[in-house]
Amino acid sequence: MTTGHCLCGAVRVTITDLPKGFGICHCKMCQRWTGLAFAAIEVPDAHVTVEGAAHVKAFRSSDSSTRSFCDTCGSTLWFRDDGQSSYEIPLGMLDDTEGLTVTHEVFVDRKAAGWSVGGHHRMETEADYFARKGRS
Ligand SMILES: [Zn+2]
Ligand SMILES: [Zn+2]
Repeated sequence: MTTGHCLCGAVRVTITDLPKGFGICHCKMCQRWTGLAFAAIEVPDAHVTVEGAAHVKAFRSSDSSTRSFCDTCGSTLWFRDDGQSSYEIPLGMLDDTEGLTVTHEVFVDRKAAGWSVGGHHRMETEADYFARKGRS
């Protein structure tokens, strides 16, 4: 079992069977939303329990996705795609990230200048990403 919470603690998550791999998105929306890039683990709804739901605000960031944040401290909480029954939960929210590894980066051609992620993993450009998702 893995636990996590926003900066102020008003919103808490408890996760069972946390996957070990996470992705990093460099799209401009994620940059604006998080400050640099969105590093998150996709977890099926059935494995996530949310406490403090009254403090969760959701921003509709596109026709098909929603980004949630804490209404008290403003922390990034999670991203959800309409078509998926899962949360994309940022690593920063988790109390313990031991053993987690990056498996992919997306929108690498949109990455903010001046930094890079170490290791070898799948790298997708914006075009690669939309080709895989089956839309443009
Ligand atoms: Zn908060
Ligand atoms: Zn993104």
